[in-house]
Amino acid sequence: MKATNVVSSEAMVSHVVYDSRKILSGTGALFFALHGTNRSGETFVFDAYEKGVRWFVIDEKVAVPTLPDAVFLQVIDPLIALQKLANHHRSQFNYPVVAITGSVGKTTFKEWANHVLSPDLRVVRSPKSFNSQLGVALSLLEMHAEADVALIEAGISEPGEMARLEKMIHPTIGVFTAFGNAHRSNFESPEQQLEEKLQLFRHSVITLVASSIDVSNQQLASVAGIQPKPYNADQPWLTKGYEPMLGLLKALSAELGITDAQFESRLKTLPQLALRMETFAGINGNTIINDTYNLDMDALKEALHYQQRLAVHRKRAVVIGLSDNTQNLKESLQTLIEEFNVDAVYFLKADESIPWYELRDTVVLVKGSRAIQFEKEVSKGRELKHRTVVEIDLGAIRHNVQYFRKNLLPTTKILCMVKASSYGSGAERVASFLQQEGVDYFGVAFADEGVALREVGITQPIIVMNADIEHANTIIENRLEPAIYSFQQLDAFVTALIHLGENNYPIHLKFDTGMHRLGFAPEEKERLLATVSAQPEIRVKGIYSHLADADNRANTQFTERQIATFEQLKAYVETQLQYPFLAHLLNSEGALHFPEAQYDMIRLGIVLYGYTSDPKVEPELLPGITWKSAVSQVKSIHAGDVVGYGCSFEATSEMQIAVVPVGYADGFRRSLSNGKGCVYIHGKRCEVLGRVCMDMIMVNVTGLDVAENDDVEIIGKHQTMLDFAASMETIPYEVMTGLSQRMHRVYVED
Ligand SMILES: *Cc1c(COP(=O)(O)O)cnc(C)c1O
Repeated sequence: MKATNVVSSEAMVSHVVYDSRKILSGTGALFFALHGTNRSGETFVFDAYEKGVRWFVIDEKVAVPTLPDAVFLQVIDPLIALQKLANHHRSQFNYPVVAITGSVGKTTFKEWANHVLSPDLRVVRSPKSFNSQLGVALSLLEMHAEADVALIEAGISEPGEMARLEKMIHPTIGVFTAFGNAHRSNFESPEQQLEEKLQLFRHSVITLVASSIDVSNQQLASVAGIQPKPYNADQPWLTKGYEPMLGLLKALSAELGITDAQFESRLKTLPQLALRMETFAGINGNTIINDTYNLDMDALKEALHYQQRLAVHRKRAVVIGLSDNTQNLKESLQTLIEEFNVDAVYFLKADESIPWYELRDTVVLVKGSRAIQFEKEVSKGRELKHRTVVEIDLGAIRHNVQYFRKNLLPTTKILCMVKASSYGSGAERVASFLQQEGVDYFGVAFADEGVALREVGITQPIIVMNADIEHANTIIENRLEPAIYSFQQLDAFVTALIHLGENNYPIHLKFDTGMHRLGFAPEEKERLLATVSAQPEIRVKGIYSHLADADNRANTQFTERQIATFEQLKAYVETQLQYPFLAHLLNSEGALHFPEAQYDMIRLGIVLYGYTSDPKVEPELLPGITWKSAVSQVKSIHAGDVVGYGCSFEATSEMQIAVVPVGYADGFRRSLSNGKGCVYIHGKRCEVLGRVCMDMIMVNVTGLDVAENDDVEIIGKHQTMLDFAASMETIPYEVMTGLSQRMHRVYVED
């Protein structure tokens, strides 16, 4: 190594960095500009410098950047330099260094060993699955003087790599978990690969080789190897395949001074890690096995076995994420999966989403190559136990649409209003679902809402009700249908259409029949139709109006007048236009109570979610929205203790309170403070104590035996949307659209 630009510096190097994006503070950092396949370390030097790094190790072939106060060490290969540093660091310590290798099971073994050893020994271990040439170096750099043992994973994919790892790790104890054909393609023969793997242990004091590995006595002798007997632990989730691994674990524990009795008792609480797989509860009652770490035949087979054991009689689905580089594996993966008789298989590409809504009560195995970055997709299927979520029941929405289909003429079209993020439920997802259900039309308030729907593949016609003239071009380019309500706006659209060379562009004429919101007055109809008929750029796709008092069942006079006015308008337009058009007037409540005015289409909004003010209809519909959370903390308070801001609640006796992570920033209004609002836990009413905070409430759970993480219902079976709206003195529309966007929307389909 030679150093350039050496300046006198008081600073000491305290840690190593290699990814400029992950630098929090550059002070004391030594930056290794590694050559990567898709990142050139050198270009990140400037980035790292910006973040305060002043010490750099760079390739000697790279010109030294002129950066004031920076020190550059030029080397032949920055990775080798890092490995040398790691080995130097490792050599400072005399405690045992355990190297763990094998085609599968390295991470599991490392985590299990940590579990069994750590009550007695201070363990340092590789973070996550850091087992590559870089990962091992970083793992070794984690070693420190206060530890008693180091557990280091080592993985290879090419001949020659193991010798390099051995030089760096210099293990005192070797563990060899399994020998499969995971990376065999790069080796001449299995024997060559085994030989190569054993290289790692040639200087070890002892090497533990799993009993499942077919290794010759000669090979064993060359590495001071023993093969511990398989060990059987009485754990329902641990079956056959794990016995050799447990045998290794027992032998390693004994080697490091753990007694048999200690080992036995720690086995009972062994963490349930299935190889690199993570198993957790998903939405819709699914169980998800997440193994998006890599994709090869061995690992997939292991995972399929694990899935089979876990599922017993439940349904099984497999989701495979293929990157461009792994597309060629598809056929052989398919053949393997077929042997396991799973119920559904999905092959997805990098930008495709996992169809979580199609899966229920299923054990879902998700596998993908790391390149495809599937984690985000997987986490969308996760049941969010510790968070406040809004759950949208697509099955209920389907039921509610069908209720109208049954009660309307078969020719009447259905338009679904998905404005304001579909009443807070998430327009993209809900509209996609409704499109699949065969809904004819969509309506939004603003142009950008319509554009968002086009972007997720909504191809049905979309009416924009507040079609601002500034957005005329956007509207036209996205084939959105503007509602025209004034002459000025009509002019602007016609002008935009002329510029774009469009003819016969669909528009909807909006009439004001009494509500006095947007719309042409009935008296303007002659001038309007004369203008419209003279402009070939536009074509009247529909005319419509909106009811102001449709939920007033006691007095229907106002609505009847609006219907009569609309009827006359429609008759007039028919005389003026030489072509058919759609007439539509009814919103949800209108469709429930004035079906005689259904004309060609109805516009449904709130009823999609099952809410109506009519108690006769309500039981026919299904509620579509559940708002739920989980208890963050439970505590006891005593007489005289207060709760929350302003100390507005004071206990008069001993009581238990629960903290729930929902607050006025989520739409749980502050007016619900001090008993005005409540939630339900274990089906029991728990009223709000003290004031509602921005992100939390405290509720009374005295005598209810509530624990942390218990489910909390805010809106659901016990407190319906209507109840909750009433407690805030408002209507479901405002509750729904007031549910903050920061909460996750979870879609289920029961
Ligand atoms: C929002 C809206 C609807 C739907 O109203 P609901 O009461 O939710 O059914 C229908 N038509 C127009 C013009 C709207 O703005």
